[in-house]
Amino acid sequence: MALKALEVYKLLPKKNCKECGDPTCLTFAMKLASGKADVDLCPYLEEEAKSVLGATTRPPIRLVKVGVGERSFAVGEEFVLYRHDKTFYHPPGILFKVSDTLAPEEITSATVRVRDESFTRIGTDLRFNGIAIENTSGSPEVFARAVATVEESADLPLVLIAKNIKSLIAALIQVGSYQPLIHAATKENFREMCALAKNHSCPLVVKAHELDDLTALVKNCVGEGAKKLVMDLCPQSLGDFIITSTAVRQLAISRAVPDLGYPVYIDATHPSLQNAEIALGIVKYASVILTPPLSPASAKAALTLRQNIYTDPQKPIQMNPGLYRVGTPGKDAPVLLTVNFSLTFFTLQGYLESTRIPCFMLIVDTEGLSVLTAVAAGKLNETLVRDSIRKFDVEHEVTHKTLIIPGYSAPLSGRIEEATGWKVMVGPRDAAEIGEYLHEEWVKSSTLT
Ligand code: SF4
Repeated sequence: MALKALEVYKLLPKKNCKECGDPTCLTFAMKLASGKADVDLCPYLEEEAKSVLGATTRPPIRLVKVGVGERSFAVGEEFVLYRHDKTFYHPPGILFKVSDTLAPEEITSATVRVRDESFTRIGTDLRFNGIAIENTSGSPEVFARAVATVEESADLPLVLIAKNIKSLIAALIQVGSYQPLIHAATKENFREMCALAKNHSCPLVVKAHELDDLTALVKNCVGEGAKKLVMDLCPQSLGDFIITSTAVRQLAISRAVPDLGYPVYIDATHPSLQNAEIALGIVKYASVILTPPLSPASAKAALTLRQNIYTDPQKPIQMNPGLYRVGTPGKDAPVLLTVNFSLTFFTLQGYLESTRIPCFMLIVDTEGLSVLTAVAAGKLNETLVRDSIRKFDVEHEVTHKTLIIPGYSAPLSGRIEEATGWKVMVGPRDAAEIGEYLHEEWVKSSTLT
């Protein structure tokens, strides 16, 4: 159970020394109670108070960063089991996995894809996060060469996977300062692995199939001073992954087993199952996902799913209202009205660009609601349209007074005409039909005033 700010405050040393970065102990207590600060920031806390506060005020799943600076991504710090309860905060890092036995050109090709490929959706550039290199050869020299090949092409977050400690040492000589994620500590090797992770300040994967073993291993690694942990649940099947990952998340979120409060890792490279593994990983709480270099279709699907799941369900992605140009519209260009729900905007914009008819998009503020919802909720109405035409000075941009509204807002057409004095044309319901509509209805139209 989380402590209230006052209960937290009672346990603090109350020196008001500001060393934690907060002006007073009370403000630090408030941050701690809301999970926004770490107990370690106060150097004067007694160990006992630290352990009580740490267990109750830290986010139930720790934040772990892989890499440094711009070549990094952060995962964990999640608070809920179900996305609709609040939101999921840190999207999983998805990394292409390569073997050190691949030809250098193949390693370079995968690396360059991660470095260069990006796909824009709803105004956001979506991309993969890094490269995982596996020491399939077992040889430290071959592993180090593969890591060097990746480094020659890009500065990306890395995962280093090796059973042989000497291989990891050889790789870390080159890239240790970039804090790659090291895979993996087991109950047999955790002391050496923790020492390696500590020496380079690297995050470390801990690996066990049974939850009791995993919990014990986490405790041991933390005891060895390795605190940035990620957990490999070693699933035997997809079903096993769902069950174990869900149990881990429940136990961590409820703080029933705080030692399981670390991000989860999944290797989704099994032939023929990888798409299902990636999807399950994204949906069922994986924070580090390894995939083979994916086909364009699978890559797009994975990045789209991740964006959808990690979008705050309580905040529709919104565009700023305004008058947007598609191409270089002249004074006689059509004006198309729509809402400021980003998905609607970008979908319509894409279709408009492909019509090659320059035009204006009048985006009105429906607080991110889609057309149908905004009409039903009364957010899209004639007053909003009238005020938006005035606010964005549309009358000075065109010499006509004709407005094309979305098909789903057809019931408003009469009221918009009355309120604005503009002629209203009702466009299609489906944005995909806008090209045909403009060619049929606008270009041939004689409605210009
Ligand atoms: Fe208070 Fe500790 Fe922060 Fe100093 S460092 S202000 S004692 S909470």
